[in-house]
Amino acid sequence: MTKHRKKILLIATGGTIASGYTEKGLAPRIDAEDLLSYVEEHREFCRVDVLQPFSLDSTNIYGKHWLELADIIEKNYGVYDGFVICHGTDTMAFTAAALSYLVQNSRKPIVVTGSQKPINLPVTDARTNLLDSLRFASEEKAHGVNIVFGGKVIAGTRAKKERSKSYNAFSSINYPSVAVIQDGRIVFYIDDKEKVAGDVRFFHELNDRVLLLKLIPGMDGSVLNRLFPYYDGVIIEAFGVGGFPEYGEEPFYQEIRRWSDAGKIVMLATQVTHEGSDMEVYRVGKTIKEDFHLMEAYDMTLEATVTKTMWAMAQTGSAEEFRRLFYGTVNHDLLLTPV
Ligand code: ASP
Repeated sequence: MTKHRKKILLIATGGTIASGYTEKGLAPRIDAEDLLSYVEEHREFCRVDVLQPFSLDSTNIYGKHWLELADIIEKNYGVYDGFVICHGTDTMAFTAAALSYLVQNSRKPIVVTGSQKPINLPVTDARTNLLDSLRFASEEKAHGVNIVFGGKVIAGTRAKKERSKSYNAFSSINYPSVAVIQDGRIVFYIDDKEKVAGDVRFFHELNDRVLLLKLIPGMDGSVLNRLFPYYDGVIIEAFGVGGFPEYGEEPFYQEIRRWSDAGKIVMLATQVTHEGSDMEVYRVGKTIKEDFHLMEAYDMTLEATVTKTMWAMAQTGSAEEFRRLFYGTVNHDLLLTPV
């Protein structure tokens, strides 16, 4: 009896995994069909079709590409059991987070993967990552958007590239890995497919007029005055659990009033990677949060905070509705809830 093989759509977008050496440095040039030819073992458990919507270093991937990927998944959703997106690692965490908001409640797995070395080198992480990804996308218990990389399966909203060269480039931030894959065996730590409620839901818009501003000691808050016309929302990376400067005659304070009064989103986050924000611990933070009823990112990653803000701003112009959307948990992105 032949084993039922899952039907997977492999969507190749470029990145190191598909790169070759050129005079000007590494650049994508291996196409989707070729990528697949390096992992012939996949035939044991899945059948794969390929698509190549673009071929880019992920440095050049942004909102319009995330929408295009979500659109491809929507158009092919009924035909395939799972999806694997090959992508550069540099902005992979943004793409995985964005897809988590653009494709919600998916009972089918959507895997984002890539590698630190091109797939055609003799020593590379690419073949393992791609084969693991196809395996995970073919697994009955897998669902939703995840990154598969370096033997870890990380929820799409929880991944961060923490190493620029090592094979274990990605970490799961403030949340456990969903699963690990060792020697082709998947061990689930979070096995919750039966909790997916409702139908898959696709979204088609993002508002990318979002500014991420990282504080440095002594920063002049009037920088926000200059940027005011160009953005509908700002995420400010404050210090520690959420320290926000009080330098006396306070341009930040005035600017946050101006942005809030204009109906723009002002979100506070921490520049510390692990453990998240809690702006109410110190007076420097609590005061400004209370005065302007500001929102904060709590335990969310910056990549998830940025893309969730883009997604929620595109859904609504109302501050209250934005708050409701942002504080709703999507794909494990937020555990600490506002008090
Ligand atoms: N610059 C590459 C990219 O993000 C890096 C990688 O894929 O590892 O496309």
